[in-house]
Amino acid sequence: MLLRIALLLCLALLVLGAEDYYKLLGLKKNASDREIKKAYKNLSKKFHPDKNPGDDTAGKKFIAVAEAYEVLSDEEQRKIYDQYGHEGIKQHKQGGGQRQQHDPFDLFSRFFGGSGHFGHQGGERRGPNMEVRVAIPLRDFYNGRKTEFTIEKQAVCSACEGSGSSDGHVDTCDKCSGRGIVIQRQQLAPGLFQQVQMHCDKCGGKGKTIKHPCPVCQGSRVVRESETHDLEIEKGMPVGVRITYENEADESPDYVAGDLVVHLTESDASLGQQDHERTDGTFFRRRGKDLFWREVLSLREAWMGDWTRNITHLDGHIVQLSRKRGEVVQPNLVEIVKEEGMPVWHQQLENNEHDVYGDLHVEYVVVLPDMMEKSMEKDFWATWEKYRKKGGVRLDESLGRPKERIQMPKEGHDEL
Ligand SMILES: [Zn+2]
Ligand SMILES: [Zn+2]
Repeated sequence: MLLRIALLLCLALLVLGAEDYYKLLGLKKNASDREIKKAYKNLSKKFHPDKNPGDDTAGKKFIAVAEAYEVLSDEEQRKIYDQYGHEGIKQHKQGGGQRQQHDPFDLFSRFFGGSGHFGHQGGERRGPNMEVRVAIPLRDFYNGRKTEFTIEKQAVCSACEGSGSSDGHVDTCDKCSGRGIVIQRQQLAPGLFQQVQMHCDKCGGKGKTIKHPCPVCQGSRVVRESETHDLEIEKGMPVGVRITYENEADESPDYVAGDLVVHLTESDASLGQQDHERTDGTFFRRRGKDLFWREVLSLREAWMGDWTRNITHLDGHIVQLSRKRGEVVQPNLVEIVKEEGMPVWHQQLENNEHDVYGDLHVEYVVVLPDMMEKSMEKDFWATWEKYRKKGGVRLDESLGRPKERIQMPKEGHDEL
């Protein structure tokens, strides 16, 4: 394996040595440390030989990406590179005094734990997956949005590169010879012995001892760290969708980090400060691809018509509802406005379809006045009386309802 890596390294230097580090990592010259780290993490996962068996080009890229990261993540080397390019770096390394270039697999393991492999082949242990919930406002599900979130997780200590030792020295425990367990003989009775396996107390079962523990992690090899991830909410993504960030869960030198799984949930609707956070749409309710809204009408509007409502949707566009004079809206009527619901997520669409929307369901609530000016009340009353006398019906009479109490049959059992 080592030989293969060495060979790959030589090849990589020959083939890719001249490629610009920034270009290689897909970065601009003014990239921040965070962007450099992110680019390395993404690309090293993508080109890892375990993921691309038999693909030499990927293997070379994997090594080249590690090399680019090593230079750009180091302030001094980055300056040299910016000024003198590859040649400058080469001379700087030859000049000595520089810490050695990492094996690209070691570098990989500093970010993802374990020994630098994905473990599909080597049977390497894999850490547990990590699940987090991220609450997103409905607006972002409607419009789609690129945002970010921050989590705290266990990371391999970068000060000691996961060794736990301040000077890089880790000794094999002399009591258990690095196995972490010792066999003890216990005498049960004269001449009768039992062998018991016990945790080695000298090294605490780790098999290794450290004389000078790392001051950052106190020898534990890991630290708590917060990390920010990009999150792309795609138009119409359903609530509860799971987004997986490969190998971004807790890290440890003992295993390859598991996956970070993000569950998207919908946050409670609330008015924000900015205009776009104050649309009617903020209070739409979502069910699948449809949206629901309740609109209030006055008695006059519901009965006589001649009204207009401009509802501001989640992206600010206006959905106009209206009735002409004489068009009645019954209380609790649900009007379905076609294609004003949620966009359908592209993963739920058939081929070649695009921009498919659900419907907006508007339920009308009619509010009756409970106070009127006296003169107004008089006018209405008079109008009613006039038409009641002319042709009004008494509903209880016309329905044939009884005026007296109805006698129930005497107690007793009916034969069934
Ligand atoms: Zn440390
Ligand atoms: Zn030991």
